[in-house]
Amino acid sequence: MLRASGEAREQLFSEARRRRADAHGDVAVLRGVVEVTNLCRVNCDYCPMRRDNTAANDIYVLDADQIVARARAVHAAGIDVVFLQAGEIPKTTKIVGEAIPRIREMFDDKVEILLNLGNKKRSEYEYLKDQGATSYILKHETSDPALYAKLRHETFASRMRCMEDLLDLGYKVGTGAMVGLPGQSLESIAEDILLAKRLGVHMSSIAPFIPAPGTPLENHAYGDVDVALNAIAAMRIVQPEWLIPSVSALAKTRADGQLLGFQAGANVMTINFSDDQYAGQYLIYGKDRFVVRREHAAKALSGAGLSVTGSVFVRRDELTCGATR
Ligand code: SF4
Repeated sequence: MLRASGEAREQLFSEARRRRADAHGDVAVLRGVVEVTNLCRVNCDYCPMRRDNTAANDIYVLDADQIVARARAVHAAGIDVVFLQAGEIPKTTKIVGEAIPRIREMFDDKVEILLNLGNKKRSEYEYLKDQGATSYILKHETSDPALYAKLRHETFASRMRCMEDLLDLGYKVGTGAMVGLPGQSLESIAEDILLAKRLGVHMSSIAPFIPAPGTPLENHAYGDVDVALNAIAAMRIVQPEWLIPSVSALAKTRADGQLLGFQAGANVMTINFSDDQYAGQYLIYGKDRFVVRREHAAKALSGAGLSVTGSVFVRRDELTCGATR
């Protein structure tokens, strides 16, 4: 599936869309992301926000009031997934933990609070869950433990420990991988998908590698978007129920990249709700980062024949409540 091209690829995408329609209908979930801080203690070789770049970057850390203010903009846009994302620093636990109950109140509890705050202690995950978090994204990035350690300077085992804690605590968990890392084989990408299935996660993603300026991998080649799209379709076929985003990295080298992501079977899009000032400082792919706003999302979704739906986890909760009443 990862090697498919031409007609075989058309068939692969068509099968992926069929499985998406069976599992979810012709709909896509919108998430509203707020980027809490661009400060990070980790030193990933592919990331412009890596620890070694701290002095060169314009660092910001939002407080709980600022997070709640941005969540209000997500609410006003009619989106019920508030996605709080940040570099990995311990103090996000307290800041985000304070903001979550206030956001829940704003949405009258009809909201999915999705976090992406990196590795934390089990007790911190437990605290955030108690505060009202619903779901958590912790990408494994690569299933190859040696490559993981080389690129992230952390152990793969520590990532897996966090993943198991999140699943055990009842989070809806998302993972994901990159395509096009130096030294990564096609077999390793296949294993990325199979690992996600074995873990029993609820969401998974694939993003093509972007060589970001100011990082040790700045001269490495871009990840192959065709392989990334094939991997999205393969994931949909392997696990039709997964939420699979059409990520902004797909649009970095191809204007219609996110539309192609939906044609390959994706069913989630993330819209940026950070203040313009901070969105420019959250250097996830370097300074000329492509920031997804609502108009771009609407175009990609209508082009793919998908309509917008709310959080599947909120809807499932409501259905469960209805059934017991
Ligand atoms: S990828 Fe995430 S954990 Fe790694 S340096 Fe960047 S922000 Fe930090």
